[in-house]
Formats: sequence, structure tokens, C-alpha cells
Amino acid sequence: MSGRLVFKGGLLLDRAGIRGGDLAIEGGVIVAAQTEVEPTSGDTVVDAGGGVVIPALVDAHTHLRVPGGEEAETLVTGTMAAAMGGYAAVLAMPNTTPALDSPARIAQMLAATGNLPVMVLASGAITKERAGTELSPLAALAKAGVRLVTDDGSGVQDANLMRRALQYGAELGLTVAEHCEVESLFGGGVMNEGPLSANLGLRGIPAVAEEVMVARDIELARATGARLHLLHLSTGRSAALVARAKADGVPVTAEVTPHHLLFTEDLLLDYGSVYKVNPPLRADADRRALWRSLARGVFDVIGTDHAPHPRWRKEATLDDAAFGMLGLQHALAAVYTGALGAIEERVRPECLPPEVVASITKLGIAEAKETRLGWLWLIVALMSWQPAHLLGLGEDFVGSLVAGARANVVLFNQSSEWTPTATSILSKAGNSPYLGVRLAGRIEEVVVAGRRLVGSGELISEGNWQ
Ligand SMILES: [Zn+2]
Repeated sequence: MSGRLVFKGGLLLDRAGIRGGDLAIEGGVIVAAQTEVEPTSGDTVVDAGGGVVIPALVDAHTHLRVPGGEEAETLVTGTMAAAMGGYAAVLAMPNTTPALDSPARIAQMLAATGNLPVMVLASGAITKERAGTELSPLAALAKAGVRLVTDDGSGVQDANLMRRALQYGAELGLTVAEHCEVESLFGGGVMNEGPLSANLGLRGIPAVAEEVMVARDIELARATGARLHLLHLSTGRSAALVARAKADGVPVTAEVTPHHLLFTEDLLLDYGSVYKVNPPLRADADRRALWRSLARGVFDVIGTDHAPHPRWRKEATLDDAAFGMLGLQHALAAVYTGALGAIEERVRPECLPPEVVASITKLGIAEAKETRLGWLWLIVALMSWQPAHLLGLGEDFVGSLVAGARANVVLFNQSSEWTPTATSILSKAGNSPYLGVRLAGRIEEVVVAGRRLVGSGELISEGNWQ
């Protein structure tokens, strides 16, 4: 493409705040981000009026299913869904077949990621084969480019093994991420334990199965001083434990997912196993507690836990169906939709820095609009530069829309309302919980490394993040 790609007439949202302005891209970088950019002939001009240009997203929790699960997803289909969802980079989780627990397996997986629309980062298993009995060669994994280790899919049951993982992880600069679930409390459950599971006669997964491991790991992080990351927290009590630990200065970070922010357990009743996920969708009191915690800075990252499954593994009874749902393609709109429902929560000052608040006030818009933009800023922080920071992604992902920065940007139209349909799913799998769900806000443009992957809401190029 000759000429520049120019976004005109929108708002620019980055870590410094929100301002009105135009943005121009050329040769893979942002060449101008200022009050006005005058297009010249040869430029491609995108009308960004009514929309917000934001830094591209980063997902620190994607199941790409490679190797071994290609029936559900491939690197190509998974990263196309990611591109459509506004992501420029995703972290592939290691609970594959075989598990990504050695430098050779990591290298093999990464060797196939060179020619994809978005960047794929590797994570490694904490324990060999994710069996929970012996640590993986963590030093060798770190040397192979792994930034985060996790046995995601299950928790590390042995407390001493987890303690050693945290200690080694800290020495090696690895983030050790826990899927918090005590197996003996989990007890083969299929949904949230409560009145609804009792009514349905289904085995429940109690909140304490998660919370006991959250509490244990926080104490291990406190004792070792090592950094701990807690994946997909689903209960208000888990969030309260993290809030307390942070107040105590324990080096813990925490993730929440779009589906736990938007959905509740009763959906299982009406729509069945597409809403079966682990940790399970909880009751509305927990969902609201997650929003309250988000507004108070308890969560650092919103990760999708994108979990594709072949049709036969989901089209089964609630007892038999696999856990997990798609997330990449609709995550931003889903979270934004949830935020509009939780808008009465006031975002705490520590989550919206004074310069960000000042920048929004300066726009001179109605208070209700200001509140929505404040929430959008916080959401983008948790879906873009904060996960990038967690993964050590460096200068291309610091979340600044300034001249000279790498052109990883997304145009999000806040006022567009829409309902995703099955035909629009780019994943190889179809287990999306968002089909037929009215969403507020839509991604219209996605540019990764200067390449326009999505235009007017459609995938127009498969691109190449390099
Ligand atoms: Zn998990």
C-alpha cells in the first residue's frame, strides 16, 4: 500500500489519557498522532468519527491448542480470530498434547508462528507433562523465550512444588501463573455449586475450590517474596483475598475474564453446555463483586481464556461436555457491554490517574459520556499495555499513540450495537458464548505492525506481524 493510513476525526486513547485527534500510519509506524492530520492524495482515509483509536490488545491467556488439538483450532484460525478481536499478540497456553514443558517443544511450536497475522508468545508448563509431580526445566524454558509458566487447566496441588516454582521463577524472571483449583474440593463438578446446581441435580464446583488455592498461593508469594499471577478469578472472595494481599504489599497480580464479567450460571439452564467453563460462571453477586473489584484496581489483566473445542466435545450433556468457550473475537465488546451494566461503580482514583481524568474532563462532554470513557480507558489498560507489561513485551506495546511508535492500533466504535452470528466466527471451533448476545461497541479497524488486517469490521488481510 502506498501512502499513509489516516484515522480522522476520532478520539485517541492511550496510557497518557484521551484526546481528540487524527492518527497517520506509514511503513509500520505511527508517523503522526496530533490534533489534525491533513490527508494527501494516495492516503487511505478512515472516518474515525464517533470512535476511539486505542493501542492494539494483548491476550495473556489464549488456548491455541497447538500441538495436538488442531481439530479445535490452528495457529492460523486462532490468530485470525485474535486479529478480528483487536489483538496484536497472544500468549499460547501450554496445556497442549503433548504439554509445552521443554525447550524443544516450545521451539517446535514457535517455529510455526512466523507468518501469522498476530504475534504468538509461548508459555511453558510449571511441571513436567502438567502432572504436578516434578518441575519442568524452568531455566531452560526461560532461555527458550518463555515469559510465563503455568499448569493452566489444573492447579499445582503440591504446595511445596508451587513454592519451589515461585522461588525459581523469581530468580529466572518468569511469571508463575496459577489456575486456582483444589482438586479434592472440585470433586468432578460441572457448574457453580449453589441452589441452581442443587435444583438441576448437577455436581457443583464450590467457590472454596478456587479460594483455598488463592489463599495458599498468596501466602507462598508472601513467604518467598516471589511474583505470583492468579488466572481467571471468578468469585468475590477471591478478589477480596487479592485486594488484601496487595494492600499488604504481596507481589501478586490477578486476571479476570470477559465471560465472568458478563455472564452468570443461569445461562446453563437455558442454553446449555456452551456456557460450561472452568472456573464456572457464578451467581450474579459474584459477577457484581468482580466489577466492584475491577473498579478498585484489584485486577491487573483481563485475559480471554479463549478455549476452542470441536463440536462433538461441546454438543453433549452438561455432565459430559468439555469446559471452555471462545473469547478472542468478542472480548473487548463483551467487557465494554458488561461495563455499561456496571456503570454505577465509580472507578477509583488509583485506577484512573489524575492526568487521565484531566484529559477526559478537557474533552468537555456530558458526564455520562465521561464515565463511559473512564471505564473504557481502564478496560483498555487491562487488555493492552498491562498484559504486555506482565509478559515483558517491551517498547512496541507500551500503549502510547505517538509518532515513532510501532503501528499496533485498533478503532473501536463505542456506539455501535450488534449481535454476533455463527458465520462471523473465525475460529475453527464454534463454541462462542456471544452468538445471539447483543453487544455494545464494535471493532472496526485493526492495524498490526502497520498492516491493516481489519477494515470496516471485516477481515481484509491475513497480514504478518513481522
Ligand atoms: Zn484455567
